[in-house]
Amino acid sequence: MAQKYEVRQLQQTQQQVKPNPFENALEQLRIAAEHLKLDEGIHQILAHPKRQLTVSLPVKMDDGSTKVFTGYRVQYNDARGPFKGGIRYHPGVTLDEVKALAAWMTWKTSVANIPYGGAKGGIICDPKHMSAGENERMTRRFAASITPIIGPYKDIPAPDVYTNSQTMAWILDTYNTIVGLMSPAVITGKPISLGGSLGRDKATGRGAVYTTVEAAKVNKVDLKKATFAVQGFGNAGANFAEILQTYGPKLRGASDSKGAIMSKAGMDAAKLVAHKEKTGSVVGFPGSQEISDKELLQMDVDILSPAALENSILPDIARGVKAKIITECANGPTTPEADKILHANGVFMIPDILANSGGVIVSYLEWVQNLERNYWTEDEVNSMLEKKITSAFRDVHAASLKHNVDMRTGAMIVGVGRVAEAVRTLGVFP
Ligand code: NAD
Repeated sequence: MAQKYEVRQLQQTQQQVKPNPFENALEQLRIAAEHLKLDEGIHQILAHPKRQLTVSLPVKMDDGSTKVFTGYRVQYNDARGPFKGGIRYHPGVTLDEVKALAAWMTWKTSVANIPYGGAKGGIICDPKHMSAGENERMTRRFAASITPIIGPYKDIPAPDVYTNSQTMAWILDTYNTIVGLMSPAVITGKPISLGGSLGRDKATGRGAVYTTVEAAKVNKVDLKKATFAVQGFGNAGANFAEILQTYGPKLRGASDSKGAIMSKAGMDAAKLVAHKEKTGSVVGFPGSQEISDKELLQMDVDILSPAALENSILPDIARGVKAKIITECANGPTTPEADKILHANGVFMIPDILANSGGVIVSYLEWVQNLERNYWTEDEVNSMLEKKITSAFRDVHAASLKHNVDMRTGAMIVGVGRVAEAVRTLGVFP
């Protein structure tokens, strides 16, 4: 068991020396700029975050010691509306990762055509080895440190990897205490009792399913007979699996940070969620067998969803991918080089900024409900999500056909194009 843990640690260390995600993001931007024939000045503006804040967070630990954590908030671009983006807690967080995620948020809100810019935050920490009290004190110190630059019309954070609705509640309470308001619209992904939206917890997975349903139509994949695998059985991945299986496809493979499993007969996603809740991992699910991460990503399935972290589909993996459709629930799971290989091999890519935009779409709906003090039913929220994300899929698909490019480039053409137009119209101050 100890040896297995070390192997996993090694894999994670190797992941950290993988390509710089911000360089990937700039390369994707460069390709879009070329297709859009962007003015070089606008391209340069879009290649730089507007503001990057690094904060040091002294936290009293349970053993009486004080530990200083490092946190970031990167506000990438707000030409189309207030900055918007999640906060990630992970030992592998780097400023370049946060910058990349903030850039992708900018294109994502634009593709979804919601009136936001893009931002992202993160703290270098290992929440799995922190108590709830330590996590709360670190979160509140971070919230206090970023309070001057966030606000309902400035920058609206949300959850990301290893943060949840409780984290959002602590940030909301800290912000409210400092500014002296009850301002639920400063953050999304809140608990329902504090003004969270019905449907927000499953929105990323649900939105990814709606895009997959559209992709299946375009690619003539019969969902009733289809199979799929999910890397990263967390919020996004597990909800994607649970909702997608209601359309017919069978879940053949799944993984989390502790390992990967497969079952030829298929697995019930809800039962797998219950197993993970009980044991802490998908590994050991009755009737499944353990496989490597590479085997999972190269499984003979119709649909593959990378739903963990960046850089999981590298060129070596891409060459062996058998899936017809990739639904990127995660942000930045495919490197630009791997993208080219997948495209050449005829794999239909639903890129992250489209596939996982359901989360930010319902965050937007939550913010609108908070500002209006008027709340919708879950069915109303889900149907607005379906309408918005399906329309985004169609815009991206139309752009990819018009420019004769893959779906990622199509999404970047739509996303970057709208932001570029807003930046050009605003002009350069002073
Ligand atoms: P989460 O913490 O709920 O789940 C992450 C899952 O990935 C966990 O099950 C973890 O065990 C697993 N994991 C971590 N390292 C792994 C590895 N090396 N191999 C396999 N599995 C691994 O996080 P989440 O919110 O589901 O986010 C997952 C991805 O989706 C991230 O890229 C995030 O940016 C993206 N995303 C999430 C949302 C959202 O609303 N939750 C929205 C948009 C994008």
